[in-house]
Amino acid sequence: MSISLSAITKSFGKNSVLKEISLDIADGEFLTLLGPSGCGKSTLLRILAGLELQSSGTVSIGGRTVDGVRPKRRDVAMVFQSYALYPHMTVAENMALPLRMRGLNAWQRLPLVGRLLPGTRIAKRQIEEEVRRTADALSIGPLLDRKPGQLSGGQRQRVALGRAMVRQPTVFLMDEPLSNLDAKLRVQMRAEIKELHSRLGVTFVYVTHDQSEAMTLSNRVAVMLDGELLQVAPPHEIYADPDDRRVAEFIGSPK
Ligand code: ADP
Ligand code: MG
Repeated sequence: MSISLSAITKSFGKNSVLKEISLDIADGEFLTLLGPSGCGKSTLLRILAGLELQSSGTVSIGGRTVDGVRPKRRDVAMVFQSYALYPHMTVAENMALPLRMRGLNAWQRLPLVGRLLPGTRIAKRQIEEEVRRTADALSIGPLLDRKPGQLSGGQRQRVALGRAMVRQPTVFLMDEPLSNLDAKLRVQMRAEIKELHSRLGVTFVYVTHDQSEAMTLSNRVAVMLDGELLQVAPPHEIYADPDDRRVAEFIGSPK
């Protein structure tokens, strides 16, 4: 789904964290918010997810204004840096959780659309199938009965991805999902996220302070500094033709 941010501002007390951010993201695009720590990336993503309310401005998802719409009703899934898995639950239970919560207000897979839509109750067996299918796609099928404490960092991150995927959201929001992993795994998971994006074809908004991550993953990169978007462009353009000195300095390209 397309996303439209229009003149979003956010202040915490006197601290103005986002300054009139406007950004249109196309349906199916992989857009990365790239910027140093503290520039407001997470705050912007949390506003998109509905976890935080902007001070002013409008957010639309799929052409519909979502201001005041609760996170669960936004059809977005968020993957965090800390995986936030429940330690006392198995991998399967962790992954089933979003569907269970949905199941209470009833969901159904529509055969034609192939997506989960609000409507009717989702059966336990259906939830198990969905979890199994997703786990297999992420090569964590054999881990379904383990607890998070028995997994490596990379495996935990896959479970967190899987938990976001079972909902079959039309928008993925990812906040530095790889930053807790070691370098080798980070590169491997990068490839998996890229593959996931091309396979699902849905919109990804990805947050990182890691340039090479942003450059390899994204259709477009939005360079952010001190609560402002300095430049939004395809990776090669950011490198070859930085809009201003601050972008060039951050990217380290000559201008
Ligand atoms: P980033 O994700 O780019 O590192 P954040 O969005 O987390 O940046 O934070 C941007 C700024 O907003 C920081 O100065 C941070 O201290 C401040 N901030 C974030 N969340 C809150 C909050 N809940 N209350 C007060 N200040 C906050
Ligand atoms: Mg952050």
